[in-house]
Amino acid sequence: MLRTHTCGELNISNLGQTVTLCGWVQKSRDLGAMTFIDVRDRYGLTQLVFNTDSDATLRETSRSLGREFVIQVTGTVLERTSKNAKMPTGEIEIGVSKIEILNGAKVPPFMIEDETDGGEELRAKYRYLDLRRNPIRNNLMLRHKMAQEVRKYLDGLDFIEVETPVLIKSTPEGARDFVVPSRMNPGEFYALPQSPQTFKQLLMVSGFDRYFQIVKCFRDEDLRADRQPEFTQIDCEMAFITQEDILNVFEGLTQHLFRTVKGIELGSVPRMQYADAMRLYGSDKPDIRFGMQFVELNDIVKGKGFGIFDNAELVVGINAKGCAEYTRKQIDELTEWLKRPQIGVTGMIYCRYQSDGTLKSSVDKFYGEDDLTNWAAAFEAEPGDMMFVLAGNAEKVRKQLNELRLEMGNRLGLRDKNTFAPLWVLDFPLLEWDEETGRYHAMHHPFTSPKPEDIALLDTHPGDVRANAYDLVINGTEVGGGSIRIHDRALQSLMFKHLGFTPEEAQKQFGFLMDAFEYGAPPHGGLAFGFDRMVSIFAGLDSIRDVIAFPKNNSGRDVMIDTPSTISDLQMNELKIKTVL
Ligand code: ASP
Repeated sequence: MLRTHTCGELNISNLGQTVTLCGWVQKSRDLGAMTFIDVRDRYGLTQLVFNTDSDATLRETSRSLGREFVIQVTGTVLERTSKNAKMPTGEIEIGVSKIEILNGAKVPPFMIEDETDGGEELRAKYRYLDLRRNPIRNNLMLRHKMAQEVRKYLDGLDFIEVETPVLIKSTPEGARDFVVPSRMNPGEFYALPQSPQTFKQLLMVSGFDRYFQIVKCFRDEDLRADRQPEFTQIDCEMAFITQEDILNVFEGLTQHLFRTVKGIELGSVPRMQYADAMRLYGSDKPDIRFGMQFVELNDIVKGKGFGIFDNAELVVGINAKGCAEYTRKQIDELTEWLKRPQIGVTGMIYCRYQSDGTLKSSVDKFYGEDDLTNWAAAFEAEPGDMMFVLAGNAEKVRKQLNELRLEMGNRLGLRDKNTFAPLWVLDFPLLEWDEETGRYHAMHHPFTSPKPEDIALLDTHPGDVRANAYDLVINGTEVGGGSIRIHDRALQSLMFKHLGFTPEEAQKQFGFLMDAFEYGAPPHGGLAFGFDRMVSIFAGLDSIRDVIAFPKNNSGRDVMIDTPSTISDLQMNELKIKTVL
């Protein structure tokens, strides 16, 4: 090896040793007779000292070094006169006797420091330089550690990691497919997997009984902070199990990760019905780091002559504790925030529980002190609290109030990144009405089994059928989801029928799976964790981009390798493809 030690490992116990280090020049300070250089590798930083008076060549070379030059140095480990307690190598420095420049470097386009001056776009273009920075490198090391712990835990429970193909056909996870033209089969296309869903189910039919895979999935969707066109799942499936078994095994995985990676004992994961999540939080992924549950007011506010409440399907609010002193300006600003098109609130009503015990609302004309006392009782409010109330169509207003609740959680500092509140959300609806297409879609995917006691409702009240489907939510982010599957051809065909597939379409797209069900399919179920999201939560980040080595930007571009890009006419011809732009 070109080095005897890394740049992060030498300390006072190595004094007097002759060592050789390799790394990148972080910075250099020329103090006349002495030159100090910090050399960096992925393990840390070590200070080098060049006594430039005694060796002219050494002086010349040390002065010619620019930032990010790659060097090899040999020298003696010396005790520093001014020590730096913050660095593991802060008590020593290397008195350099020999230096070799292994490679020069252009001046980097931004500072390779924890706090950099580089904008996002620039850092994306030079991602390989950004990856030299500690925060990003630490994220990837965290990711690596988590992947290893996932493998350890699942291997310990007899799960087998099986790779499934990437050139496949459409998998119905509800997103658009990325497609790949087939040169050998002109006019035909592969689809990239939105998940290995059908393959893992086939592996259950094959008897593998406990499968997992840390796997890339591809979905052509509009991008957000927690969405990338290609992302990684910890994909899992088990046979001969009940929903309870799945919840226990993967609660165990989550606890294992928190314990081994963060040293946190998570405790058992609470469970909530989907219907309750929607009613109490207006979201299927409630952030339960804080309470502020919804309070429904229909019974106490209707019939007092206030049209907005009287005509609303739902009047519902939250108690923002300690916010009674909000100024008119703050309330107006909050209302404007709610009125943005993304949220679309038309107006907000408030009621202050003032510190002197009196109640003051923005609808005093319609509601007297007695009425407001009833409100306060419903909200379990105390003097000093502020009640915010929205009204309208139930589904819409719950979504809007969810936004307000999360925002108030932020403003009140109730969403600490170092607090972790996991939650299982259970019993999702099987189907979801889609306004655009005017028909039902599978809320999870079409292989999810309905609750047996609800099957009869499929014909009469399809929207009320509950599924054996579950999500794992942490701090308001969906980190995993899955279901017990249908393993019976007849029920699977019935599902396709309800999803609007003709028998021919169902056979063409998923015949292989339904055929497999006729050769002894065991009862099975599983789930998939969004690995990038999981890592970003562990890292305390909002965006998954920083836990991915080479992510795409919001337009789905990799600006470093400059893709997507056009292909040559020759390639187009071979693929028998023409573009019409
Ligand atoms: N394939 C599902 C998904 O990607 C997960 C599962 O049902 O196991 O969401």
